[in-house]
Amino acid sequence: MSTSPHRKLHVLFFPMMAHGHMIPALDMAKLFSSRGAKSTILTTPLNSKILQKPIDAFKNLNPSLEIDMEIFNFPCAQLGLPEGCENVDFFTSNNNNDGGYMIFKFFKTTRFFKEQLEKLLETTRPDCLIADMFFPWATEAAEKFHVPRFVFHGTGYFSLCTGYCIRVNQPQKRIASSCEPFVIPDLPGDIVLTQDQIIDGDDETEMGKFMIEVRESEVKSSGVIVNSFYELEPDYADFYKRFVAKRAWNIGPLSVLNRGFEDKAERGKKTSIDEVECLEWLDSKKPESVIYISFGSMASFKNEQLIEIAAGLEASGTNFIWVVRKNDENTGEEEEWLPKGFEERMKGKGMIIRGWAPQMLILDHQATGGFVTHCGWNSILEGVAAGLPMVTWPVAAEQFYNEKLVTEVLRIGVRVGEMRRLKVMEGLISREEVETALREVFVGEEAEERRGRAKKLAVMAKAAVEEGGSSFNDLNSFIEEFSS
Ligand code: UDP
Repeated sequence: MSTSPHRKLHVLFFPMMAHGHMIPALDMAKLFSSRGAKSTILTTPLNSKILQKPIDAFKNLNPSLEIDMEIFNFPCAQLGLPEGCENVDFFTSNNNNDGGYMIFKFFKTTRFFKEQLEKLLETTRPDCLIADMFFPWATEAAEKFHVPRFVFHGTGYFSLCTGYCIRVNQPQKRIASSCEPFVIPDLPGDIVLTQDQIIDGDDETEMGKFMIEVRESEVKSSGVIVNSFYELEPDYADFYKRFVAKRAWNIGPLSVLNRGFEDKAERGKKTSIDEVECLEWLDSKKPESVIYISFGSMASFKNEQLIEIAAGLEASGTNFIWVVRKNDENTGEEEEWLPKGFEERMKGKGMIIRGWAPQMLILDHQATGGFVTHCGWNSILEGVAAGLPMVTWPVAAEQFYNEKLVTEVLRIGVRVGEMRRLKVMEGLISREEVETALREVFVGEEAEERRGRAKKLAVMAKAAVEEGGSSFNDLNSFIEEFSS
C-alpha cells in the first residue's frame, strides 16, 4: 500500500546492536517499506542472523515490498573486543556480566563502521539515513554525501525533554544529597526526581564526554524520529518540538505494526519457549488474570532479588508469566534463585520463561491483565498498546524518567517501591513490596480506574497509526518531504 505520490524513497536504518534498538529499527524498516519506501537495515554478521527470519517472514507476506539488509564487517578481536561480541547482549547475558564499562567500550568501537558506511552512502546514494543516537559519527559521514541523517533514540518525548531540562538547568547541583528530591525546572508537570535517578548532568566522565558528542551530532543532524504518538505525551511532544530538536516526527508505536502471530513471535531473539504452548497456557486462564513480569533484554538480577520476586508472586496468589534472564533451560537441578519447590507449587498458576519470551504475544493475549516492567521504552509502548496497567520497576538508564511518565503523567502504573540506581545495585525490593504492588494493580477502585485509562490509551495508540492518525500523518509528511 503505497501512499507516496513521489519516486521511491530509499532509507537506510542503522540501529545500535542491542535488542532494544534493533527491534524498533526492524519495525521502522517494515513500516517505511509498507508505505512504499525501500528499506535497508545495516548490521553485523551475527545480528543479521537475528533479523533474517522476521525479514523473510515479512517479505513472504508482502512480496512486492522492499526490505533488505547490508552487512558490515565487525572484526571483534581486531577492535579489542571478545570474539563474537557483536551485540550488547554479550555483556549483559547471564554468563558474561562485565558491567557498564565494556558496554561503553563496545559503543565507542562502533566508530569502526564509519568507513564502511561512507562507502555505502557513496555507492547507493540513499535519500536518508536513520541512525542510532549512539553513532554520533554518522552525521558527518552522511554530510559528506549530502544525505540527511536523522537520529533515532529509541525513547519517548517525555524522557528526551527531561534530559534536556536537566542538562540546561543542572538542578542536581543545587541539592545537598543524592536522594534529596528536586523539581525539574521548565519541564511541564512539576516532575520530581533525585540525583540518583538521573542520567544527564555529569559531563566529566568518559560516558559524559561521549554523550556531548552524541548531542552535538544531533544538533547537526536533519532531525529526530521518535517512536511515540502525539496523544500519549502531547505536552512533551510540543515542548520537544519547540525547544529541543529543530525537527521531529513521531511515527509510533512501531510495535503495533506487528499484527499477525508470525510477526509477533519473530521479534527479537529466538524465544526460549514454544509460542503455541505459551498461548495455550494463557488460553486456559480467565481474562485479565495473569501478570507478565519482564525486565527487558539487558537487566539481570542477583539471586536474592529473584527469590524475593518469587516469594512475592506466590504470596499474591496471582497467575503469572515471569521471564528470567538465566540459562535457557531448566536443568532439573535445584536453582539457587528459586525458593525450594517453587515451580512444583506454582504448577498451573505460573510459568517461568528462562531466557527470551514472546513478549508481544503475551502482552496482547486477553488473559494478561498487568505488566511488571523495567520501564524500557519499547516495553512501555507495547504495554500501552495492549491496554495494560503496569507495575514499574526501573533499573537503569532513562527508565527512571519513563517510570514518572507511566505513574504520574499517564497514571496507569504503580511503583514497586522508591527506585534509585544505588538501591538497584545494593538494595533489595522485598517480597512484601512485590505482593503489595501486584494487589494494587489488580484489586480495588483505583485499579479499575487505572485499567480504564490504560484501555483508552490503547485505543489511541492504534488510532495514531491508522490512516489519518497522528503518527500516520507524521510519517506521510516525512516521506513526502524527503522523496521529493
Ligand atoms: N523482549 C522480548 N522478549 C524478552 C525480553 C524482551 O520480546 O524476553 C523485547 C520486548 O518486547 C521489547 C524489547 O525486547 O521490544 C526490549 O526493549 P525495551 O526498550 O523494553 O528494554 P531494553 O531491553 O532495551 O532494556
